[in-house]
Amino acid sequence: MLAHASQVLRELGHLFLAGQVHQAGVQAKGFAKGLVPSRDCKACGANFTPEHGASLFCSERCARRAVRAIRKPRNRALKFGVAYEPISPVRVCERDGWRCQLCGIATPRRLRGTNEPNAPEIDHIVPVSLGGGHVWSNVQCACRACNGRKGATVQGQMRLAV
Ligand SMILES: [Zn+2]
Ligand SMILES: [Zn+2]
Repeated sequence: MLAHASQVLRELGHLFLAGQVHQAGVQAKGFAKGLVPSRDCKACGANFTPEHGASLFCSERCARRAVRAIRKPRNRALKFGVAYEPISPVRVCERDGWRCQLCGIATPRRLRGTNEPNAPEIDHIVPVSLGGGHVWSNVQCACRACNGRKGATVQGQMRLAV
């Protein structure tokens, strides 16, 4: 699960900085592989051994994916001047029982991030472009097919804020 946006961005800073330092020969100071325990990538979940202590992600690709996942909704919320709160897509889908709230199809967690028609995605009930906030009460789990079809229309039931 993604940590708070600012924390992830800070860690990403470490990742890139550490990459540069690494190239500069930090290995000689004892950061060699094997001294750092392996961990699970925060983006894809793969177990990996970082080349330095700060990395949360197995690859630059995963780091970029995590940045996109955080930045995109926040930037859109800023652009349209609507409310924003950091939202965990996993928690939203758990709340909604891993089912599309538009057509009712099961959207299994293992399909997250895939191009399958029933991959779970986060849908804004009132689209951000129409003034809906990126907030817990205005998001729902939707299948990729419905989410793509829906576009900027209002569908679904607003949730009680928690
Ligand atoms: Zn990864
Ligand atoms: Zn659906």
